[in-house]
Amino acid sequence: MHIPLLTEANDHNGDVTFVATVLSFVVIYLYYFKADPKKRKFLPIWVRPEIKAELTKFAYYRKLDAKHKSRFEKRVQRFIHEKQFISKAYTHVNLEMKVMIAASAIQLTFGFKHLNFSHFGKILIYKDPYFSRITRKYHKGEVNPNGIIVFSWLNFIEGYSEANDGVNLGLHEMAHALHLENAIDNDEFDFIEKGALKRFYQLAEIEARAIKQHESTFFRSYAAVNMHEFFAVAVENFFERPLGFQGHNPELYHTMTILLKQDPIKLFGLKKPVI
Ligand SMILES: [Zn+2]
Repeated sequence: MHIPLLTEANDHNGDVTFVATVLSFVVIYLYYFKADPKKRKFLPIWVRPEIKAELTKFAYYRKLDAKHKSRFEKRVQRFIHEKQFISKAYTHVNLEMKVMIAASAIQLTFGFKHLNFSHFGKILIYKDPYFSRITRKYHKGEVNPNGIIVFSWLNFIEGYSEANDGVNLGLHEMAHALHLENAIDNDEFDFIEKGALKRFYQLAEIEARAIKQHESTFFRSYAAVNMHEFFAVAVENFFERPLGFQGHNPELYHTMTILLKQDPIKLFGLKKPVI
C-alpha cells in the first residue's frame, strides 16, 4: 500500500516541477521580448562581451564603479537593441558606432532608471556635415520630431576626443532628444522634475541675456539662440566642464543635477584645484 502513495507523491512532485519549468519559460520569454514586442528580437540577458570591449573606449563608463558599469552596459545593449541604425555614408553601421552613440544617450540619462528615448526609433549616421534641403545649410547633427536623431560621425567622435572643451555633438543632440521626449505625451513623458525645469528656464534666461550683452563667456554664444539650444549647450558643459560650470553659476549647475538626477562632480569625486 505504501508503494502507490510514494508513486502519487512522485507524480505530484513531477507536476510541480513541470508547472515550475513552464512558468520559468514564460517568465524568460516575457523578459526577452518585453523590450521590443514589435520586432520580437532576442535581447540577451547577459551583455555581449564585444559591447563591453567597445565601452572601454568610453571615458564616462571607465570612471564608473563595477556596479554602475554593469547597469550602464545593460542599458547600452538595450538601446542598441531597440533602435534602428541607418548609415548614409558607410557600407554598414559598425558596433563601435552603435556602442558610442548608445553610450552617449545612456550617459545623459543614467540618473533615470528606465528612460530609453522611446519616441526615437531611428539613428541616421552621415560621415561629415550634411546638407539639409530644409534649412539649406550644412548640419553636424539634428533631432527630428518624427523620431529620428542624426549625426555626422566624424563630428560625433571629435566631441568625445576633446573631452574638456564643453563641445560634444553626441550629448548636444541627445539633450535635444531628451528635452523633446519629456514634452511628447507617450509612455516616457513629463519625467523631468517640473519645479527644477521652471527654475532652469529662469536661470537660463538670465544667462542668455548676459551672453547676448557680452557679459558672460562661459557658455558659447550659440547657447543664447533659444532655450532648446541653451539646454543642449548646458548639458555639454555639465559633463565636460562640471567644476567650471559649478564655479561659474552654482545654482544653475545644482538645477542641472536635479533635472538629470546625477552629479558628475560627485560621481567622479572631482575636486577644485588648489591654487
Ligand atoms: Zn542644437
